[in-house]
Amino acid sequence: MISQKLQQAINDQIAAELWSANLYLAMSFYLEREGFDGFAHWMKCQSEEETDHAYQMAQYMIKRGGVPKIGMVDVVPEGWGGPLEVFEHVYEHECHVSKLINELVSVASAEKDNATQDFLWGFVREQVEEEATALDIVEKMRHAKDLGGVFYLNDKLGARK
Ligand code: MG
Repeated sequence: MISQKLQQAINDQIAAELWSANLYLAMSFYLEREGFDGFAHWMKCQSEEETDHAYQMAQYMIKRGGVPKIGMVDVVPEGWGGPLEVFEHVYEHECHVSKLINELVSVASAEKDNATQDFLWGFVREQVEEEATALDIVEKMRHAKDLGGVFYLNDKLGARK
């Protein structure tokens, strides 16, 4: 059984994951409209991953006798000034998500819930990868001096499975 306090904290994170999924979907729409179909595809995959994070958290709660809930999911921003600005936003957002996951680990620790801490380490590791991936794209895009370089990256990211 998982404590009420921890259930509430995980439910808040489920809403945050769904917000992230919507943010990346909005970015995907924007990129598609601007003609960057590869970036748009990458962002749609990213959105699906966030939905899956919410699903994994809900499944974990059910296993532990908790009740997963979808709280208020706020509107997401729209309109960016180009692909670099979009990916800078992704990096900034992933750093924010890392903080949320760290806080969640702290709640699990305070509740002395070892199983939940163990479950959350997977997300802690995932965030290291998410930050690194976003930062790598931002750096590569900063090096791409012309539109040819940007479209080269667009094609590469379009190959994401
Ligand atoms: Mg996530």
